[in-house]
Amino acid sequence: RKKTDAGKDGNKSMETQNTVRRKRMSNSDDNPKPKKAKVIAKVTGSPSKLTLSPDHKLKPKIRAELPSPRPEHNLPMSPPSHSYIQASLSPGNASASTQIEETLLKVKPVAKPSIIPTPMRIGFLGLGIMGQGMVMNLLRSGHEVTVWNRTALKCRDFVKSGAFKGNNPAEVVQSCDITFSCVADTTAVKDLVFGNYGVLQGISKGKCYVEMSTIDEETMQDVAEAITARGGVFLESPVVGSRVPALEGQLIILAAGERKLYDECYSCFEAIGKKSLYLGADIGAATRMKLIVNMVMGTVVAGLAEAMAMAEKVGLDQEDVAEVLSVGALSCPTVIHKSQAILSQRYDPHFPLQHQQKDLRLALLLGDKVEQPLYVASAANELYKKARRLGYGESDISAVYRAASN
Ligand code: NAP
Repeated sequence: RKKTDAGKDGNKSMETQNTVRRKRMSNSDDNPKPKKAKVIAKVTGSPSKLTLSPDHKLKPKIRAELPSPRPEHNLPMSPPSHSYIQASLSPGNASASTQIEETLLKVKPVAKPSIIPTPMRIGFLGLGIMGQGMVMNLLRSGHEVTVWNRTALKCRDFVKSGAFKGNNPAEVVQSCDITFSCVADTTAVKDLVFGNYGVLQGISKGKCYVEMSTIDEETMQDVAEAITARGGVFLESPVVGSRVPALEGQLIILAAGERKLYDECYSCFEAIGKKSLYLGADIGAATRMKLIVNMVMGTVVAGLAEAMAMAEKVGLDQEDVAEVLSVGALSCPTVIHKSQAILSQRYDPHFPLQHQQKDLRLALLLGDKVEQPLYVASAANELYKKARRLGYGESDISAVYRAASN
């Protein structure tokens, strides 16, 4: 196994400051009034122990090698698929697009002046919370990116920022050298890859495909097999980090599969992440790592939610609990940010709760396979299921508090 840093900022300490005013909140769940956390927290990331492997030095590539730009932003039209007739403009969608633009303008990425973008043509499928941040950072670092999203309107801001727009996944794969995908779940990945005008139809000898979605390892292996059977090259590459790290280019990239492709993705991984790890040729290794990490995340946030619910029941001020947590050994970005979300009762999705529950479900299945008891993860999964039933599936993971306090 080789472990490598993807960015120069990997060793940099991260500093977050939250300054807050105190405000009491009503106890009623039906009429929640936001609290503002009074915590002043300073979070410092521990320095990385991982080092750049010698065979992973960036080869200088000159801009002049780039293929000449295409004449127009929209790729030549091919007939839309049944499965991929893209969603049309509706008033709701229009406001979603404005939100994307506002978010992208607000968050400042960590400066990475040393990135030399690969001259390869990059495709990106899926402009959800994660895809948006990743694509923006690929563009900012000078990569040539062609985007596609099921809801086509989400492509608009990226085209304004210099991206090309593909009409369906097959077309993106055909017109690009390396195509990344980051979509919701197993069903989305199967639709995307095996569907009509899907990824497989665009794969030919030498085309590279990188799957970044968090799904089960069997599906990941099926996708890898199908891609390589057509002469393509495959890398699985789920990511750790949520909305803000994606926007700031501070994700952790976990990869397994074709080593050469991993190396070719170097400048892209530098743009979107602070660290990348190559876990070997065995497809599934990166997915297993990702599920273990998210099992920890899911149980920690569920535990925090129960603690905050219990604090209120025993007459403690939740703000005090958040403050104590923020200055002690449990002080970490997750505990601090999620306790603030619970206090303010603002559950704007950074990591959608339904994706966390999916990841716990997948981790439990993995536990089944190897007969590993997972008492804590199973209990946490039940709490997330309840939160979904209460209608919080698309809210942030911190909304699991509503299930704990209900
Ligand atoms: P998201 O905001 O919910 O976006 C989901 C994306 O998947 C959208 O682009 C959506 O298209 C697309 N999609 C859904 N069903 C589809 C289908 N049947 N065919 C084609 N596209 C489909 O999700 P996200 O937060 O970006 O997460 C994406 C992946 O990364 C998930 O596997 C998640 O577990 C993982 N992840 C998320 C985070 C996080 O903090 N958010 C962190 C690490 C990993 P539309 O726009 O048309 O709906």
